[in-house]
Order: sequence, then C-alpha cells, then structure tokens
Amino acid sequence: MRAQKWLMTILATGLAGATPALSQTIYPINRAEILEGSRFDFKVEFPNAPTSADVKVTINGKPAADIFGKPTAFTQNEEGQKHSALWLRGATLPAGNYVVEATQGANKATVKWEVFATAQPRRAKNVILFIGDGMSVAHRTAARIMSKGWEEGRFNGELAIDDMPNMALISTSGSDSIVTDSANSAHAYTTGHKSCVNALGVYCAKNALTLDHPKVETISEVIKRRSKMTIGVVTNAEIEDATPAAMVAHTRRRSDYNDIVKMFYDVKPDVIMGGGSPNFLPKTTPGSKRTDDLDFIAQFKAAGYTIATTKTEMNAAAASGTKKLLGLYNTSNVDGAFDLRLAKKGSVAKFPDQPDVAEQTRAAIDMLKSNEDGFFLMVESGRIDKYSHSLDWERAVFDTIMLDNAVKIAKDFAGERNDTLIIVVPDHTHAVSLVGTYDDERPGQLLRDKLGTYADSKAPNYGPLDADGYPTNVNTSRRLAVVFGTYPDTCDTGRPFMDGERVPALKSADGKTNVANEADCTGPLATRKAGNLPFDANSGVHSGDDGILTAMGPGAEKFRGHKPNTYVFRVMAEALALGGE
Ligand SMILES: [Zn+2]
Repeated sequence: MRAQKWLMTILATGLAGATPALSQTIYPINRAEILEGSRFDFKVEFPNAPTSADVKVTINGKPAADIFGKPTAFTQNEEGQKHSALWLRGATLPAGNYVVEATQGANKATVKWEVFATAQPRRAKNVILFIGDGMSVAHRTAARIMSKGWEEGRFNGELAIDDMPNMALISTSGSDSIVTDSANSAHAYTTGHKSCVNALGVYCAKNALTLDHPKVETISEVIKRRSKMTIGVVTNAEIEDATPAAMVAHTRRRSDYNDIVKMFYDVKPDVIMGGGSPNFLPKTTPGSKRTDDLDFIAQFKAAGYTIATTKTEMNAAAASGTKKLLGLYNTSNVDGAFDLRLAKKGSVAKFPDQPDVAEQTRAAIDMLKSNEDGFFLMVESGRIDKYSHSLDWERAVFDTIMLDNAVKIAKDFAGERNDTLIIVVPDHTHAVSLVGTYDDERPGQLLRDKLGTYADSKAPNYGPLDADGYPTNVNTSRRLAVVFGTYPDTCDTGRPFMDGERVPALKSADGKTNVANEADCTGPLATRKAGNLPFDANSGVHSGDDGILTAMGPGAEKFRGHKPNTYVFRVMAEALALGGE
C-alpha cells in the first residue's frame, strides 16, 4: 500500500512535468535528423499570443538568428489563432548537434537535432528506390508461390526483390500516429523527417492554409540544387498521389492535386510517368479537374518535355533518345497487372495501350542512364496498396510480381557496375496473411469447409506461367487462402474477382454506415462477415507492422536489423554525398 502511494506520487509528478497545459512547439521536432546544408523552415509557436519581448529562442545557448546567420521573423497572434510565431524560412545548418530552447515565462520547451554530414567521395552514381505501396510479407510469399512455384517445401526460384544481399526491418510510424498513411511515410524516404498523416514535405504546424506549413527540402530538390543528376518519378497510381508527390511536394494535405502538379513543374523531374492526367489540363478542357486556366501539358511541352499517353508513345520516346518525358497513361490510376493481362477489366477497354510498371521502369532507365552525372529514380507499384484496401489480394499479388519484374530490370542494368544503389521497400504494410489453400474438392458446403490448413494446405493448381512469370489462370479449383485482418461488413467469396476489382462494402441506404456489397453475398461459398473496423470504413486499413527492405549496391550494407523509415533517406543521401553547402 505504501509502495503504491509512493508510485502514485511519482507518476503524478512525472506527468505534470511532462505535459504542461500549454507549451511552445518547435519545428523541426525533437530528434530530427537533418542533412547538412538541406533547407528547412524553422518555426516556434508560442501559445496565448505573447509579444516578442516575452519570448526567447536559443540554439546551443545563442540567439537563433546568430546560429542561422539570418534574421528570424516574429508574428504576434499569427492568423488570429491566439498563438505567436517565430519563423525562419529556408534555414540551413552545418553538421553538428543542436539544442533548441524556446522560453516563454516559466515554460521552456527543448528539442535536439542532429545535422549530419555525408562523406566524400560519392559512392553511388545512381540510386533506384522501389516502393511497393502497402507491400507486406504475405504479398511477397504469395508472389513467390504464384510466380516461381512451390514443391516439397521449397520454392522453384527466388524473387528479384528477395534475392538481394542486404535486408532490414523498417518501421513506418508518423510523428502523430503508430499507423501511417502513404503521404508522410513516403515523405520520410524523400526528406528524412518524420511528419504526420496526410503531410508531404512539411511539418504539421497550426497554419490555416495547407501550403503555409514549415517545409523541409525533398531529395529531388537537393539533387537539382546541388548536382547535375537527372531524376525520374514513375508510378502506376495517379502522379499526384502521395508516394510520387512526396518527391516534389510541400503541403499539409495530400489531396491538393492541382498544387502538386505545379510542384512537379517547379522541380521538373526529367522523367515523370503515371496516371492522373485531368489535373494537368485547364478547366475549360472537358474532363479537367483543375480549377484554373493553367495548361500544364503545354507548359511541360514548352519546357522541352515529350508527352506520351500510351505505351507505344513511351517506347518510341525512349528509343529516339528522349531525355525529358511526361507520360500520363490514364485519367485515374493505370490498370494493374491482373487487369492488363488476365481479367481485362478496370479501364483496360478505355485505355488499351497502357504500360505496366516494369515497362515504365525499362523506358525510364533508358532515358536517364546516358547522363554521366548519374540519376535518381523512384518507382512505385502503387496498387498493391489500393487492391489491399479493397481486400482483392490476387490483384495486389499480381502487382507485387509486376514490381519484381521492374526490380529485375534494374538489377540487370546495375549488373556488375557496382555504382547503383537499389532499394526495395514498402511505405507501410497491410494486415494480410497467407493461411492455407481453398480446395473445391474438400467436403462441405461452406467456404470454411473448403479451407485446408496445416497438412491440408496443398499447393495451388494455378495455370501455367506466361513469359513474365504471371499465372495464366488463377480461378482454379485449389487456390491460396490469403486473408485480411481488417474489414468492413463484407462477404468473402474465396475466389478471384474476374469481373472487376472487389468492392467489399457499400454505403448504407441512410448513408450513415457501410454495409456488405450484396453482389458478393449470394455465390455458392459466399460467407457473410461482420466488420471489425469503425463503421465509417468501407475497406481495409493499413497496419503498423514493420516492412521488409532489401537492397544492393554501394551503401546497401548499412541496412540491417531494424531502422526507422527516415534512415532510408539518410543512406541515399550518404551514397550520393548530398550534404554540404
Ligand atoms: Zn493505402
């Protein structure tokens, strides 16, 4: 009892000390790792709108302006939000350890930063960063079974994404939450900073406008400012979507698509490919999603870019020595491998000549590789994530095989050069697992009767592989059982969705919740499941599980054990020696 009272006192004191009612907030946040010479916005927010005379900000005991060598600006009662703000936009620092203190009356907030240098000489000529959006262990294992085959406990081959000398577990949390989204997780790779859900290239301060938040420089901007390297951004999602946008964008809100197009134009990566054409067209053009009269197709053309809208045009551009390409192959996402090859659903009829991610990767490398100063290429297989949200695992695994084919192209390019760092990593994971096989021959009428676990989890009998390693038939009598751990009210069918991407749930009649998609609830094995997610969810959600990173080439040896996602930026920056003024 006495011990308990003592413990209570300690806890109460500790909590009171750790969380003052109102505290000043410093950006970059505590434990930030900052590339030497990279630009960032320094901001301190003081609650209750004090005057400048009431506050003090020091770095390593000196006035902040002295350390930065530039004056700071003070705004009392910023935006009428009852806080005051001290700003320095575009700050830089030499390498070292920094302690930042913001004092306001009796309150003092303290953060520590590490500003890191990068050793010379530069170790990598090229860096290729592959992001399998949402790619989890089960996606990899299912892709290996489907694409390489399995007999007597052994696989009949290795995936290119697995067959790399270095590996690490990557944790993906944002600064505000255990489970991240694709914006701030990709931002961690492209800036080295932790930020919050939905943010790209900014910290999440109190600013009212999404573009006003404190910025940090992206790797594309550092590369363009400090080197003559070329840059490629390749995805099969919309080019404005979170992962590709993280290469160029600075916004608190990832859905600022029209602003993100302008940011692509400002940074001008040399090769830009994906879907999402409507945000490039002026509002007067039918189908445009812009709210202004800007024509970014015309602007990119004027800046020397070749425009491609089909695979044929992309390949023709690559073959003719094009160095700058804007390829937009769909008004929305580019169709995934399952629809491009097998089901022919999605928007394949409307856009019959779309490249897949492997074909885009080959063309991008062809266009970038002639630069003697090297290139940085980010390639995203973006629909592994989207199909996992819709609980459509066959489509997600086909796009994992597609990523694998893209990585194989990069590995063939890197070959014996030993000057190209290749990294393959998800931005986050999904709650997805391989638990056995569904076998139509098993007795019983229910889907769970058909599920073979342990000794009954026999090899699937998918159709023969095509030349690119995809099974030519997956709607067979014995199929992998890949299940999701998070779902809305839904119906499982135990079969692939040959008529189009799965829609697990629909809005209820009163619009207040989401209910199972009844179209999936009437088949012979259809199984109704009560959702385990909040009622506003109409699809699966991301998980906070670590992702698997594999890597090869100069710098890859640094990947081992567990690392935070920001470490990926650090390894790339070090391999390219991007630090310094
Ligand atoms: Zn997602």
